[in-house]
Amino acid sequence: MQFYEVIIIGSGITGASLAYELVQLGVKVLLIEQHDKSHSATRYSYGGISYWAGMTDLTRSLAQESLEIHRQNVSALDLPTEFRELPLIGTISHSQDPIAVLKTYAHFTKQPRLLTPAEAVDLEPLLNPDAIAAAILMPYAQINPIETANAYCQTMVRLGGHRAYDRVLTISSESDGVRVHGNLETYHGDRVIFCTGGGTRALLRDSGLAIRQCFSHSESIETDLCDLQMRSVVMPAEIRRFELERSAAMDDEPWEAGLTGHNQDLIPPILDVGALQFADTSLRFGQISRTQTSLAPQSSPEASEQWIRSGLAKILPKVAQVPGRWVTCTVAFSADHLPLVGPVGADRRVQVFSGFSNPMALVPATAKRFARQLVSDQNLVSSEEHKELQTLLPSRFGMSSISS
Ligand SMILES: Cc1cc2nc3c(=O)[nH]c(=O)nc-3n(C[C@H](O)[C@H](O)[C@H](O)COP(=O)(O)OP(=O)(O)OC[C@H]3O[C@@H](n4cnc5c(N)ncnc54)[C@H](O)[C@@H]3O)c2cc1C
Repeated sequence: MQFYEVIIIGSGITGASLAYELVQLGVKVLLIEQHDKSHSATRYSYGGISYWAGMTDLTRSLAQESLEIHRQNVSALDLPTEFRELPLIGTISHSQDPIAVLKTYAHFTKQPRLLTPAEAVDLEPLLNPDAIAAAILMPYAQINPIETANAYCQTMVRLGGHRAYDRVLTISSESDGVRVHGNLETYHGDRVIFCTGGGTRALLRDSGLAIRQCFSHSESIETDLCDLQMRSVVMPAEIRRFELERSAAMDDEPWEAGLTGHNQDLIPPILDVGALQFADTSLRFGQISRTQTSLAPQSSPEASEQWIRSGLAKILPKVAQVPGRWVTCTVAFSADHLPLVGPVGADRRVQVFSGFSNPMALVPATAKRFARQLVSDQNLVSSEEHKELQTLLPSRFGMSSISS
């Protein structure tokens, strides 16, 4: 049996970027993914990079550094990431106070410009000016998330990293390392890192480990190629998903009960009406977020599609008519909006890198720093970066030990 220094489970944006960064540092890595065509959050993501939206000194610096990494990835990775910089138009409805909305941006590193409906339509002719009271203009960037994850993976393999397609069932910590038990094989390594998105709590629980990670069920529409051309990314100026996540994570008990099949619909679902386009001209729009505590979503695809399309028809009427498919996935988050990075319990051989609410803006730099920390950890070298990443430890929620 081959021995790996680090085994990473999950090749979404978190696992792929971390695997790449570790291989760059000379670590022998195995990246295990359950599907060759994933239905992950990364697969269905918009890929928006709100690099000005850091909430703490650490996340502000991670966001700035991540933007630079996204720019460098264009030439550093073996496949295109479709990185581009473009305007974000944040819509403000007639029931909102534009000045109050502007104030919600006060703590960010960039401040929006307030636009009249006519100014917004000059920038994005597909907008319906009658549907908005005003809009904000922010700088923004975008990648194609699944292409970026593929680019990280392909480059990682060229640099000597390893990949396996297998569904991980459990892990066990033993005196000579960690055993990762898959559907097809058992893998042996020094450490294992869970980059398994919304399913992380359930997967860890199967191995007797506990973590406070939550998830929402996201629903959106993806289209085939189309003739329309969007000049910007259009989103609500106030994204409601973040408030939904905050409220849904306040009490952890329903999430634990969800593991044993007791599904609860914690908060009424919300729709953040927005749309964007990828380089191949396909569109993504949505997005409904539901806080059902079971991993198996219970919703009606027809009703959800109708809700999304009727909401979008007011803001971007032509976009709302483009034929497409309803898609759904889980999106991981934590109770304080910060990611979960580090050991799951007392055993440093089992770690997690997940739960980013704003991953496209934070993951590249966090993966780089976490990879450096893992390597210096192995050589027992102390580092300033260890201290910085302390704020992201899963144990900050006080629930990290092996449970029954
Ligand atoms: C519609 C939509 C729009 C979004 N827009 C944005 C945006 O504009 N900007 C932004 O920053 N974020 C956005 N997000 C959120 C972002 O996409 C996700 O938070 C992010 O992609 C999560 O990445 P991840 O690697 O943590 O998880 P995932 O992408 O879910 O990857 C987890 C991987 O682990 C694998 N896995 C799980 N269990 C196992 C197992 N047992 N064995 C083997 N493999 C396993 C899965 O197959 C999957 O590939 C959006 C999400 C959605 C759904």
